[in-house]
Amino acid sequence: MDDYAVIINAGSSSLKFSVFRRHEAEAWRLEARGQIEGIGTDPHFSAKDGGGQSIANRQLDRSIKDGRTALGFVAEWMRDRFGGAHVRGVGHRIVHGGARYTGPTIVTPEVMKDLRELIPLAPLHQPYNLAAIEAVWERLPDVPQVACFDTSFHRGHPAVAEIVPLPRDIRDRGVQRYGFHGLSYEYIASALPSVAPEIAGGRVIVAHLGSGASMCAMKNGKSIDSTLGFTALDGLCMGTRPGSVDPGVILHLFQGMGLSAKEVETILYKKSGLLGISGISNDMRALISSSEPAARLAIDYFVYRAAKEIGALAAVLGGIDGLVFTAGIGENSAEIRKRICQASAWLGIEMDAEANERKGPRISRKASKVSAWVIPTNEELMIARHTAALLGLIEQRV
Ligand code: ADP
Repeated sequence: MDDYAVIINAGSSSLKFSVFRRHEAEAWRLEARGQIEGIGTDPHFSAKDGGGQSIANRQLDRSIKDGRTALGFVAEWMRDRFGGAHVRGVGHRIVHGGARYTGPTIVTPEVMKDLRELIPLAPLHQPYNLAAIEAVWERLPDVPQVACFDTSFHRGHPAVAEIVPLPRDIRDRGVQRYGFHGLSYEYIASALPSVAPEIAGGRVIVAHLGSGASMCAMKNGKSIDSTLGFTALDGLCMGTRPGSVDPGVILHLFQGMGLSAKEVETILYKKSGLLGISGISNDMRALISSSEPAARLAIDYFVYRAAKEIGALAAVLGGIDGLVFTAGIGENSAEIRKRICQASAWLGIEMDAEANERKGPRISRKASKVSAWVIPTNEELMIARHTAALLGLIEQRV
């Protein structure tokens, strides 16, 4: 019987999944990829087969109201499509692995206990990631699950890049810079030798610009520093998160404005960034198509902040050889890429306007001192590789 591996990326309002199949000793192949979006509001299910052909696209009823019911729906759909499949393992994207999880890990009750302790550090993501593991456990108690962390790729940063300069007793309780979007960066690092070989061994800044946004400074495919730190709030301006703000502002929210911790959390995770500045939307497409001055300001700040962080990471790397754009905005918005490259022209980036419009992969001129690229990320494939590798180990042991 063929083996199947299922990859799950569970968020607060979406559940993305991929199904990989292996026939006897052949390599794992993508069979299906899909998602439920709008969980809790207006759930919609779509899926494509391994060749990218649509195999499902429909609204769901409101009974799909949380991660558990969404996962139940996907499980039923898989049973219909792949009836009787032998699921060898389930891989999950987990946002926070703390300092301890430096690579993918097979989930045990002890691992779950550690990961639950990290929920306060990633309240927007970690609870949903862990709920998916629990939901799978209930349905498939004997199937191994693999946790793949967004923080792992950044472990091994130099001490100066990890430190949060607060007193020792606070740092001893886990307060340090962790970095996120690691599965995306790890995938890009793995793609560089084939897509952009001339920079793969060099100094590269990867800009993951999606609803969440960050940048990673890489040297020879390894992460050296990142704009996200202790939580996924630092650095760049994001859809609903502010990126770096003076910590004195946060103190003022508590002391001067008398807000509660919950209110401050909601402001920082859900009401700031592009949404907070524009008052219109957290969606870059909506802002680009708006003529409101506040929408312009939000985009201007997004670009300004991105250029500023590129300058900072270029200093960390001692200059750069390449700049890579990825994720929703980075892959799809020629306008934002153009503006960020223009603001970074001082580094030696000369954009090729035509290549930028057709999404590269190379979007800088041949003569450009620093090259610029668009490389679509694939976090699910990265999770699949890790899951298959760990499952391979299990098979050898059995
Ligand atoms: P996440 O996975 O973090 O939810 P994505 O990587 O899917 O986010 O990125 C979502 C962002 O990408 C949204 O702000 C969306 O507006 C933006 N985006 C997608 N397509 C385009 C486009 N053609 N032009 C500008 N922004 C886009």
